[in-house]
Amino acid sequence: MKSIQTRMVWSFLLLIVLVVGVLGSVFAALIWNYYYGGSQSSVKQRAESTAALHGRSLSSLTLYGQADYMLQNLSDSGTTRVQLLDHTGQIRIDSDGFAPEYRYRTADVMNALAGQTSDWSGLDPYYGERVVAVTIPIWNESRIVSMLRYSSSLQEVDSMVQSLIQMAAIVGIAVILLFLGLSLFLAQRIVKPIRELTRAARYMSDGDWTRRALKRSDDEIGQLAETFNTMVSELNKRERMKNDFISSISHELRTPLTSIKGWSETLNEGSSEASQEEVKLGLSIITKETERLSGLVEDLLDFSKLSARTLQLYTEILQLNGIVKESVQQLIVREDRTEVKLIDSYSDEEIWVRVDANRFKQVMINLLDNAFKFTLPGGLIRVTTKLADGKAVIIVSDTGTGIDEQHMPHILERFYKGSAVQGGSGLGLAISKEIIELHGGSIHIASEKGVGTTVTLTLPQALQNQDC
Ligand code: ADP
Repeated sequence: MKSIQTRMVWSFLLLIVLVVGVLGSVFAALIWNYYYGGSQSSVKQRAESTAALHGRSLSSLTLYGQADYMLQNLSDSGTTRVQLLDHTGQIRIDSDGFAPEYRYRTADVMNALAGQTSDWSGLDPYYGERVVAVTIPIWNESRIVSMLRYSSSLQEVDSMVQSLIQMAAIVGIAVILLFLGLSLFLAQRIVKPIRELTRAARYMSDGDWTRRALKRSDDEIGQLAETFNTMVSELNKRERMKNDFISSISHELRTPLTSIKGWSETLNEGSSEASQEEVKLGLSIITKETERLSGLVEDLLDFSKLSARTLQLYTEILQLNGIVKESVQQLIVREDRTEVKLIDSYSDEEIWVRVDANRFKQVMINLLDNAFKFTLPGGLIRVTTKLADGKAVIIVSDTGTGIDEQHMPHILERFYKGSAVQGGSGLGLAISKEIIELHGGSIHIASEKGVGTTVTLTLPQALQNQDC
């Protein structure tokens, strides 16, 4: 695997080498032009001004006369060397007064022989050093009688250009190394938190859920670490809830089963001695506990259907007051046992809603069941229906124990039971919420510890002449 760090470092490096390369080439070209172009044009200028000043005088003289003239008038040319060549390129005299036996064949001389003034730079074949040279032909009428060759040593320029290019190369390499270090550092900074995150994820996949990613910065990676941690906490919470649910559901299932088993054994073993009263009590407990069991199983089935989004609604248009009243009547029998009063009041106007009657009643019964469960004797439960902002509203409020503020944000979550010690799966409100939302409505819970709880259901109103 090629790591992000390696890729980043390579990309940075490639970029900086490219930039340094381009800048270096431009710098070298500028230096080259400045120094070599400068010495070339100064030699050329000198040659051309000599041709203009002395060309005419020279052309009228013999070769010896020209050599004499040159020594007297042109030999003092500073660092520039002057040579008088005959029409074959042979040196006749140079500015030092020597006349070595050498015949030039360099491009500048060949061009001058052809009648053109031109420059050339390279290794001077006679002096053995790099020079820039300009040769001008001297004409007598239409004949080239001799040539004047101006040349200047490039030794100083060469060493100057060389040291400048060397300096530029050192700076370039230093910049590349600096950027290499910088890119390594930057890549390390980016990659380190990713590696930590990967490590934390690996620990998690190995079953250690206590690990958290470290949020080192507030950038995208920091946010990723934060999201990761939130996800881990959420998964942890769900895992805990699932375990709690399994243990509480096992407990819920065991209690009625124990009682059913106990009573059925008692009735079975001592059926002859058991009094009529005892048989009746036993059977009624068995029935009640069986109902409780099937209620729990129903909840679980609903829950799994809602989770899989396969719950089917069979809706019809119904009068809200009627269906609420039916639910109230089913639960009002609990008034005596619990010593809690249930008062229902209905809107005067007719409110029509499109609902699945069974599912809606299930929600109402769950809300009323909770209200009875969490209201102490002497308390009051109030059920109200009304129209508000064109919507059907059902309110179930009680003067019960209320819900702790810390539990409120989670109360509609699946398996959440708050601080309730009473039996229950913690699924009732979650199922109710899903059912109401499937009807296009909403559920809202307000509660104050020690004061009571108010659950408000809102449903869209159905037009009476709508198809059923
Ligand atoms: P269950 O099906 O076990 O009753 P619910 O989802 O209906 O679970 O309720 C979840 C929790 O919300 C309950 O265990 C209880 O703590 C709290 N709760 C619900 N309704 C009320 C209420 N009317 N008064 C006080 N607490 C309530």
